[in-house]
Formats: sequence, structure tokens, C-alpha cells
Amino acid sequence: MPERNRANTTEDVETFAFQAEIAQLMSLIINTFYSNKEIFLRELVSNSSDALDKIRYESLTDPSRLESCKDLKIDITPDQHARTLTITDSGIGMTKADLINNLGTIAKSGTKAFMEALQAGADISMIGQFGVGFYSAYLVSEKVTVITKHNDDEQYIWESAAGGSFTVKPDLGESIGRGTKVILHLKEDQSEYTEEKRIKEVVKKHSQFIGYPITLYVQKQREKEVDLEEGENIEEVDTAEDKDKPQIEDIGADEDEDTKESKNKRKKKVKEKYTDVQELNKTKPIWTRNPDDITNEGVMESSTKASLTIGRTIWLSNTSQLRGDAAAEQDPEGHPQKPGQKCLDLFTEISEDKENYKKFYEQFSKNIKLGIHEDAQNRKKLSELLRYYTSNSADEMVSLKDYVSRMKENQKHIYYITGETKEQVANSAFVERLRKAGLEVIYMIEPIDEYCVQQLKEYDGKNLVSVTKEGLELPEDEEEKKKQEEFNTKYENLCKIMKDILDKKVEKVAVSNRLVASPCCIVTSTYGWTANMERIMKSQALRDHSTMGYMTAKKHLEINPVHPIIETLREKAEADKNDKAVKDLVILLFETSLLSSGFTLEDPQTHANRIYRMIKLGLGIDDDGSPEDDIPLPEEDMPVLEGDDDDTSRMEEVD
Ligand code: ADP
Ligand code: MG
Repeated sequence: MPERNRANTTEDVETFAFQAEIAQLMSLIINTFYSNKEIFLRELVSNSSDALDKIRYESLTDPSRLESCKDLKIDITPDQHARTLTITDSGIGMTKADLINNLGTIAKSGTKAFMEALQAGADISMIGQFGVGFYSAYLVSEKVTVITKHNDDEQYIWESAAGGSFTVKPDLGESIGRGTKVILHLKEDQSEYTEEKRIKEVVKKHSQFIGYPITLYVQKQREKEVDLEEGENIEEVDTAEDKDKPQIEDIGADEDEDTKESKNKRKKKVKEKYTDVQELNKTKPIWTRNPDDITNEGVMESSTKASLTIGRTIWLSNTSQLRGDAAAEQDPEGHPQKPGQKCLDLFTEISEDKENYKKFYEQFSKNIKLGIHEDAQNRKKLSELLRYYTSNSADEMVSLKDYVSRMKENQKHIYYITGETKEQVANSAFVERLRKAGLEVIYMIEPIDEYCVQQLKEYDGKNLVSVTKEGLELPEDEEEKKKQEEFNTKYENLCKIMKDILDKKVEKVAVSNRLVASPCCIVTSTYGWTANMERIMKSQALRDHSTMGYMTAKKHLEINPVHPIIETLREKAEADKNDKAVKDLVILLFETSLLSSGFTLEDPQTHANRIYRMIKLGLGIDDDGSPEDDIPLPEEDMPVLEGDDDDTSRMEEVD
């Protein structure tokens, strides 16, 4: 019996479990709310293009490898009825082993790295740069079927509806010659990707510089007028039920006209099905040109939008080159080229034109920052491309070079603060003192900055120093140093008392040199997370609980020695170190500065209740007395402070 006619038996089907991190990534892709789903098509087209590069490369040494299919192409075929979108290429294809390894059982380092980068605020659209682009198919698909044929193996079908497993079986159906056919069974709400207009739009936006023809095949119906046969009646050629048969209907000539016109002029309209074939990418990709011909003008001459697309394309080809993809290392003629370097030079050139660079930076800042995080080799060059708002430049972003050029004479470090918004960091207590001393502070307000700065560490021989971390060294003269030492001695005792009260909540209590108007602040240890990083990590569903344990920001409380609250607290504490009011106030101060330093409270309700009690006090409302309080605070909600059994009247001791 010939193989092809044999139906698959259940023994032919093998089921595999996705490697754990891949399964995690897939469920993340499926469950994350993310609206820019269209990038899946760019990833699949780019995989096709890579596969075509590979067969083309093989054919340079062995032309017979192309015999299984000579055309190198990518076809896109939507099917509205079946709600599928199929991407077919005549690339290298995959052997059975390739299928099992590359699509599910062997995780690349990028799998975990991508999930971590997402936690740090990277965008799902960056998936391709981590080498896991294929799985973006699940942004829009409930099931994916991959049919593939490699020259060295039989044709196989891979299939998965996610859920942790996939199947592989020999494909005894129609032969595809060579290459890969990815069939996306679209989710119910993603049927837009079967629409011609939408597909064209997405290909134009993300894949117009692919070096192989991308052809769209759309099934259409058109009406054709044909003469009615003599003696034929419109009634007789009723519309066919079967959708595959041509459908015929009356052209709409009404009865009156019928009678006026002669019978043999009558026509009928026939609906016929045909396939509309359109090539979607006509532009040659920029990296297939001679690198010497790529100029700044070449990139910026056209409209900004097109320029940015080119920039992005260069960037993507750049990063795939940096990852060491064999395919990206030579041009279509097989000549090796170094696009990474070329691109960096080009970006540097673009950066010389401020206005143009602004637009470029809006689009690519995340990529540049991610590049700094990932790519040690180009880190220095990439750091020149960074732009930030600072305490001296709130409206215009400046480069690190600009920052360094205006550093104070005795300033050794580059100061920065991370946070959520420009306003938040600008008003933070940490920045107070530095601003007052005329020191410029860089505002890092994108989550990815936290990652980027961890790797960057220094610029131009100067350390990047977080103003929210312990041991902040500010340039100070002899007199300031002496004063600080005096403060240290004066407040040594208070620091001890406060540390005893706060116990494990803080690592250390110390006298601050960075505060002006605030009584205290929380700083984090040099190697732990910043408050901003703790916020980012806490907000991640996927966070690793073991990491949460040891990375959670190690907090130091710093007190402002010239603040009246601290001074009065010192006097009170020194008069009676067991004063209950001191205990209460210390905790309240600590919690309040947690908030103002950008942390979240473990137990906000308790804090709120403390505040309410302060408000009551301020309003002169007797806490334990009746008649009933107007403030809706049931008795049992009253906080019980550590080591304090009698909780009814202690706040009365506060003056
Ligand atoms: P990357 O493309 O960065 O390697 P992907 O997740 O996009 O990562 O793809 C994973 C792997 O699956 C590819 O490296 C390739 O080996 C294989 N693959 C995916 N799509 C195709 C295709 N159309 N033809 C051949 N191999 C493919
Ligand atoms: Mg890919």
C-alpha cells in the first residue's frame, strides 16, 4: 500500500510537553492584556525570511538543494470562513528533530530573559529580539498548526493549542515540496487578521523591507455579466445553494424595462470566485544594499514614519546579527557584512540632528536601553545615544555627555533618580539637597531604566550614583564635613532608639546629608532594589517569590538633623526613651517616609488608622470617649502597635 494513502494511526502521533519556561512564556502571551497583537505577523514573516536565507545559503555550495522548490517566496493566505491565516514559505523547512527542539522542548536563554525584560517594562513587541518570536503566534491564535518539509526528512505536522503540550506526526497529506506552512487558527475576536486591508496594513508597517516577495492570496467573488441564452429565464437560473458553484442572479432590470427592451438584449450576472494575487513588498531591504551606500540622508530623506520603519528594520537586523544568526551575517550574495557597527554609526549620525533624533528616540529609546542591558560590546557606544530629562533640564532631554560637560568642579559622580513620572521624581525629598547644592540629577522614569542602569554603571569614567541609595557621597567642603560629624554625634542616640523601635523594618537608622525640607527618608542598600524597582517587581504577576525575598529593597531610614520634628523627637526621646508617644511617632514617621520615598505599605489600613487618630487629635475629638465619633472607625479596627497593650489613650500623650 503506498504511504500517502495510509491514514495516520494514533501510534504515529507523539505528544510532547513544552519545556517549563516556554510553557510559562506561552501562558504569559495568551493571558497578558496587550493590544498591539499585530506584531505576530512580523515575527512569522521574519522566521520565513530567515528560513529562506538558510536554504539560499546552502544552495551557494550545493545548488541541488533548491531543486525541491526553486522559487524563494512567502505566501500569506487568509480564509474568512475557516478563520485561519496561513503563512507559507519555501525556506529550509524543519526536520522532525528540528520541530521538536526548536518549537518547544529546548528553551533558549532568551525565553527567561524576555520574561524578565517584560517585568522591567519591556514591550511584548520586542519578543523577536529574544529569539522566541514564534510564540507570538499565540497572541492571536487559539491553535497553531505547522506543516514542514526539510530536504533531509519527511513532511511533518506540529500542532498545539498551548496548554503545555504539542503533538508531532508524519504528514501524509498534500506535499508542500519544501519549506514551512504555519496555519493560525485565529481566536474568535481576532478575525480582523483574515481581512485583506488589515493584513496589507500590518505587512506594510512591519515587513515591507523583507528581501523575498510576500504575496497575498485573497479569495474573492466578482460579478460577471453574461448574455442570457435564448429562451433562458432569470427564474430558471436561481441562485445556487452551494457556495462553490457560480451564483447567478437577476441584473435588476425591472418588469417595465423588460417589456420595453427586446428579449435578446437581456443579460444575467454571474458571481464567480477567483483568487486575487498581490505582491505586498516592493521595496528592497536597506541591508541588502551596499553598506557604504547607506547614508543618513537615505534614512531621513523620506517621511519620518518611513524613516522610523527603516530605523526599526535596521535595528532588528542589527540585533539578530548581534545574536549571531548565521543568516544575518551575509548579504543576499553571501558577502559578510557588519550591520551592527554600521547601524550604530548611522544612529550616531542621526543623533547630530536634534529634531530628527527626538523622533527617532521616542520610538527607539527602549531598544537602545535594552541594547545597553544586553550587549556589553556596544554598551559604550549605545550610552552616547541615551537622552534624559534632568533637574536642570525638565523640558528637553539631554545626553550624558551634556551632563558631564556641566558637572561641578568638585563633583565626582553622575547622580540619577528612578521613579514613575517626571513630576514624582522632581518633587522627591532625595533630589532636594542636590538641587539646592546646584547638582544636576538625571530623571530615569521608564521601568527599563532600572535594568539599563544596572549594566551601565558608569559613563566617561564617572560612576552613576542613585540618589536614593545608602552612602550617597556628595561633594562637600571641610566645614560641611565637620558639621555632618557633629550631627552624627548629636543624633547617635536617637538613631539607636529609632532602630530599636523599628527593629526589623529597617536595616539601619542614620543621619542624612541629603534632606532639606523633609524630616526623613528611606534609602536602599547599594545592591538591593530601589523603591521603584520594588514597585515594578511587586506589580508583576510572574514575579519569582524567592527573588522577592532577598532582593526586596533593604531599607535604611535617614533623618534630617536640622528638621524641627527630628530635633523635638530627639529631646523627647532623650527625656524618656520609653515614652509611648515617641514610639508611635517614630512608626508614623517611618511609614510616611516609606510612602514619600516611593514604597508601598504592606498594611495601608493600619497606617490610615494612625493618621485618622492624628486628625482626631488635631480636631480635638476625644478618641476613647463617647458620644459616638463621627469618623467611621469601629473600635476593633484600632491599630495595636508593637509592644503596646493598652491602646485606648496613648495618643493623648502627644502634644
Ligand atoms: P528565532 O527566529 O529568533 O530563532 P523563533 O521563536 O522565531 O526564534 O523561532 C524559533 C525557531 O523555529 C527558529 O530558530 C527556527 O529554527 C524555527 N522556525 C520557526 N519558523 C520557521 C520557518 N518558517 N521555517 C523554518 N524554521 C522555522
Ligand atoms: Mg524569529
